[in-house]
Amino acid sequence: MTEIIHKASCMCGEIELEATGRPNYAEYCHCKTCQKSSGSSFMVWVVFDKDKVRTIKGQLSLYNSSANLKRGFCGNCGSNMSIHTEKCFDIPIGVLEDPDQIEITQHIWVKRALKHVYLDDGLPKYDEGAPN
Ligand SMILES: [Zn+2]
Ligand SMILES: [Zn+2]
Repeated sequence: MTEIIHKASCMCGEIELEATGRPNYAEYCHCKTCQKSSGSSFMVWVVFDKDKVRTIKGQLSLYNSSANLKRGFCGNCGSNMSIHTEKCFDIPIGVLEDPDQIEITQHIWVKRALKHVYLDDGLPKYDEGAPN
């Protein structure tokens, strides 16, 4: 059986990523850091094991947004491209080539959610990070 390949690229095309297999999960993150870095109300992260994702073109610029977490972006166009933790490589849904095939499964950092954001979609919601 051939594995699913998820391709991702930034706005200018300098960075390309490739993830293999199904993501572990995908979630809305309403945390302040996601709001600041995206300039929007929340981000949607598609979470893969670290060893399932590789950079196939360009080089991510990295920023330590908290102690154990780096955020990757394109140094040329500024697109958000990644979160790097000890175990995972998260890709924002909007840079994927085929985002509609991703099923989003939860909301995290709901205590920071902006008032206009619709949250009654029946998905599990966590005040801070999810227990998983
Ligand atoms: Zn770019
Ligand atoms: Zn966040």
